[in-house]
Amino acid sequence: MSRFLNSKYTELEVYTPGEQPRDMKYIKLNTNESPYPPSPAVLAAVNADQAELLRLYSDPECKNLKNSIAKLYGVNPENIYLSNGSDDILNFAFMAFTEGGKAAFPEISYGFYKVFAQLYGIECRKIPLREDFSIDPEDYCGLGCFTVIANPNAPTGRTISLEDIEKILQTNPDNVVVIDEAYVDFSGQSCYPLIKKYKNLLVVQTFSKSRSMAGARLGFAFADEELISDLKRIKFSTNPYNVNRLTLAAGEAAIRENDYYMENCRRIMATRDRTTAELEKLGFTVIPSKANFIFAKSGRIGGQELYEELKKRGILIRHFSDPKISDFNRITIGTDDEMTILVNTIKNILEA
Ligand code: PMP
Repeated sequence: MSRFLNSKYTELEVYTPGEQPRDMKYIKLNTNESPYPPSPAVLAAVNADQAELLRLYSDPECKNLKNSIAKLYGVNPENIYLSNGSDDILNFAFMAFTEGGKAAFPEISYGFYKVFAQLYGIECRKIPLREDFSIDPEDYCGLGCFTVIANPNAPTGRTISLEDIEKILQTNPDNVVVIDEAYVDFSGQSCYPLIKKYKNLLVVQTFSKSRSMAGARLGFAFADEELISDLKRIKFSTNPYNVNRLTLAAGEAAIRENDYYMENCRRIMATRDRTTAELEKLGFTVIPSKANFIFAKSGRIGGQELYEELKKRGILIRHFSDPKISDFNRITIGTDDEMTILVNTIKNILEA
């Protein structure tokens, strides 16, 4: 740390992204990326002609992509906001909608929420999950502060219903409620149609998981026009060109080939359910997941040890040191073959 850093940042506990090691080729099941490549049209869109255009700024309004997403989801383009990954949108939401200085979210959830809160000096209300890692929607009713809920939640993969989301929206009419749907395409139910009814709802999604574009950095949000214009106000006060040309071209192509991605999601869901059953046969407790990962613990080996033993054998999974979940590991669903290797490797570790 230099002596020039503003003192308000010196205590910041930064977000720790999942490791992206370069020392050898791993079966990578640690950061919830898709095991499938981008669709043919995306590969074609990121071509030399596009690269040549890189000398020109990208469209700050992201008009074409916004129109394509609006058409696919049946909403108006004015109800859509695009950004450099959904992290960017969450960041802007914490910046924009936390008047009152408080933010509520589940105690076990996406680790970035507390980082944003700390970054902006916002007091956190971390709400415990139930024993079975589910969210009790009643805990969020009438909280009277900015609220973020990942649905499905991470790293648990559990969901809450649309009816419960409506209750939370109705009982917090003066605060923005963010529903982070990063994993919604893996059998969750999106609440974006509710934006027509609730002016305080912000629904955040991403191309990183179901659309195989984590490296392109593309997130999108649905909300009432007024909330979208607030997000744009922040964007145009920080970085108007925050979605680059190659990503815009790739995003448009991905929307054109949406069926390809939805088919991949179905494959991932089938692989998830098969892997869950196989791990259960090995004595694991697996939390029922509606995401592209599972959260599992073995009665025979600790979470940290399993992570280390798998890493030695070329398989990366995610372990969190928080004592409340340190017996567990979060395992991203890869291809069927990758998950067969995982299960067989775990069998070998347990038998060793
Ligand atoms: N929300 C949740 C719940 C996540 O797990 C992630 C992925 N780390 C994100 C948002 C951010 O995804 P991205 O910035 O790649 O869109």
